[in-house]
Amino acid sequence: MGSATAGARPLGALSRSSAHGPCLISGRAEVQMSEGIPTPGGYARSTGTVRALTLMIDFSDAPGKGRALDRFNEFFPQTREWFRTSSYGRLDYRPETPIADWLRMPKSFQAYGIERGAPFDPGYRRLVQDIVAEADPKVDFREYDLLNVLVTPNAGPSALDTVLSVTFAGNNEAPMADGVSVANASFVYSRQDDGSGSYEKTGYRVLPHENGHVFGLPDLYTQEGGAAVGHWDIMSEDWGANNDLLGWHKWKLGWLDTTQVTCASAPGTTEHTLTPLARPGGPKLIFIPLDRHTGYAVELRTRDGNDETVCRPGVLIYKVDADVDTGHGPVTVYDSRRDSGGCTRSPNVHAELSDATFTPGESFEDRGRGVRVVVAGADLEGNHVVRVTRR
Ligand SMILES: [Zn+2]
Repeated sequence: MGSATAGARPLGALSRSSAHGPCLISGRAEVQMSEGIPTPGGYARSTGTVRALTLMIDFSDAPGKGRALDRFNEFFPQTREWFRTSSYGRLDYRPETPIADWLRMPKSFQAYGIERGAPFDPGYRRLVQDIVAEADPKVDFREYDLLNVLVTPNAGPSALDTVLSVTFAGNNEAPMADGVSVANASFVYSRQDDGSGSYEKTGYRVLPHENGHVFGLPDLYTQEGGAAVGHWDIMSEDWGANNDLLGWHKWKLGWLDTTQVTCASAPGTTEHTLTPLARPGGPKLIFIPLDRHTGYAVELRTRDGNDETVCRPGVLIYKVDADVDTGHGPVTVYDSRRDSGGCTRSPNVHAELSDATFTPGESFEDRGRGVRVVVAGADLEGNHVVRVTRR
């Protein structure tokens, strides 16, 4: 479990004086988990080969039913494939199970007192310490970039009642193992089964969400659920049909080259081509910085790759605010069709924002900030031309 040295991130080379400099927004120091770029150190690296130590644990009062590897198989190979597809092959995610059986914890589940998904609960700290102690004889923690703990699904409440799944990310005070800090660990409880019959296909998606935190991504859902970003990012909604990440997150994770991102910081009108975000290659993201902390992101979303439920392909426009913390709405998607009810009835997909995209002939305007984005047209391959005007 390396304490996640960021390594040779492509973003490491970016400086504030480069052409992309004005787009490297950052948050105040108090922000726990920010949308700022580059992501600070301490998180697991998100490009190249990433080794995910994956342990299946159970308890005397919640003994694992069936084989531990069946629990593993609820998440793999799907999670590995999900990352390969979303990252255009830049993240080679290798789940490893040096302990193939249930790892029995020394205390009962009840004794840990885990009642909610709060990573700083003392119960979690005791649990991580016990996991390390029980696994240590068979595991060299130095060989791994992150830890997945797949808890037997019969421990704790149903995910329909309370979602306990949680991630410690970039945790400076994490317990040590083999001389490295267990700083990036994702816990998955229960099953995300809503009874709609889609569990077999979609239930794994909680793990790429939790691992998103390990790579430094904040939660995009808020107290109001998915109303800020809808189904446009797995950090917003990880139940229901498959979805991808925002282009901003892909840039943050090092999955887009700087040549695929335009920083529209100069006044005047500029014209840009966007290729579908889920397809490899080509220009993907335009960012219009407003100040050192916020800006508008513009990208093209289509039904491709992990983006399974897009019902109105088009240009998605959203505001990113690096000063807003995880779970408080750091990203807000602009709805081109307010109060339309959306274009999907897919279960667990926030419907209203499903038709938020802008199509050729439509435009977005923020008069106060003097920003206008016009979708000027589309070619036969589905690429879109976007015109950006700013004061
Ligand atoms: Zn989360």
